[in-house]
Amino acid sequence: MPKQISPYHSKAGEVYHIYGICASGSIIAKSNKVTGKGNKKLCKACVDIRAGKRPR
Ligand SMILES: [Zn+2]
Repeated sequence: MPKQISPYHSKAGEVYHIYGICASGSIIAKSNKVTGKGNKKLCKACVDIRAGKRPR
């Protein structure tokens, strides 16, 4: 089971992430990356990772 990290999100995105291994989270540019949920929804891929359905 992947380990959760502190929530983070992209200034330009509409979701937040809770896994560093998340594909869409890991491509966020450092300049756009912000810690916290940002009042956004949890990323779908992170939901799947948490559910154990980690995409390949
Ligand atoms: Zn994510």
